[in-house]
Amino acid sequence: MPPLVFTSPSLSTKLPLLHHSTIPSATHSHRPHLSGDPPRTVVITSGKGGVGKTTATANLSASLARLGFRVTSIDADAGLRNLDLLLGLENRVHFTASDVFSGECRLDQALIRDRRFNNLHLLCLSKPRSKLPLSFGSKTITYLVDALKTLEPDNPVQFILIDCPAGVDAGFVTAIAPADEAILVTTPDITALRDADRVAGLLECDGIKDIKIVVNRVRADLVRGEDMMSPLDVQEMLGLPLLGVIPEDAEVIRSTNRGSPLVLNDPPAPAGIAFEQAAWRLVEGDTMTAVALEEADRQPKRGFGWFSFFGR
Ligand code: ADP
Ligand code: MG
Repeated sequence: MPPLVFTSPSLSTKLPLLHHSTIPSATHSHRPHLSGDPPRTVVITSGKGGVGKTTATANLSASLARLGFRVTSIDADAGLRNLDLLLGLENRVHFTASDVFSGECRLDQALIRDRRFNNLHLLCLSKPRSKLPLSFGSKTITYLVDALKTLEPDNPVQFILIDCPAGVDAGFVTAIAPADEAILVTTPDITALRDADRVAGLLECDGIKDIKIVVNRVRADLVRGEDMMSPLDVQEMLGLPLLGVIPEDAEVIRSTNRGSPLVLNDPPAPAGIAFEQAAWRLVEGDTMTAVALEEADRQPKRGFGWFSFFGR
């Protein structure tokens, strides 16, 4: 394995004033208290494809960056890379981690700085539609993440988020290897839940004990009509703490096509607010409590009514 060279004039200088300070946070005017020992390495996984892993990674990354944390997001879905699209950075991916390991560039050159947040970087493992070299496995990615952690000793990264590929094959095993924590994204349907349950078991076998769930694409009308499982049902079936409940929201698709994470929408969209709340809980090591429907219906609507419908 060639040695990695980490010196970078652009990254080793002190960060200039973050231009994101001009973008108001959708729901919060103060910063959450960071729990745990940074850098925290969090894998966003699911088992089933298409449930919202990349959407969650992009929105949590943007939220954390806007809150002022230094974030590096790794697109570990090598075959179907699209985190760059969701962050609107597709034209700036000149080098990838594979190029670092083949000796074509330094690690800092493969880090793509976000246009809106100086403190948010994206790292793709490989070029679109190109496969990872077979030698790129758990040890390689762990080595890479260790290198990211020490890249800037004066201004170290605080969150490394890893967008995991679907399935439980080699790509999954690689993506979870460096993580200490996992966010398990699921939709409230039985196929996604079965896969999520399997993945939770595999994560635990791998030594990842801190696993929280995000229930995505929830429709309050269907839950009320008992045509969709409620977040409480999902939580009880998986037996894991709940980080967030994200509603089905057409704005997700619009923001994906614009290459701008939904959490940056002004005025805020319901799913954007829910992702921001999840990011806030992630920072603080907090979870939410799903409530039973009868209890939710009894509660007076306060603030964003939709959210008190599902939890507190
Ligand atoms: P994954 O990374 O798990 O394969 P994606 O994040 O790419 O999933 O999402 C799959 C599709 O679902 C995308 O078209 C995305 O826009 C859509 N989607 C994700 N979350 C929501 C949501 N809360 N509301 C509406 N559409 C969503
Ligand atoms: Mg994806």
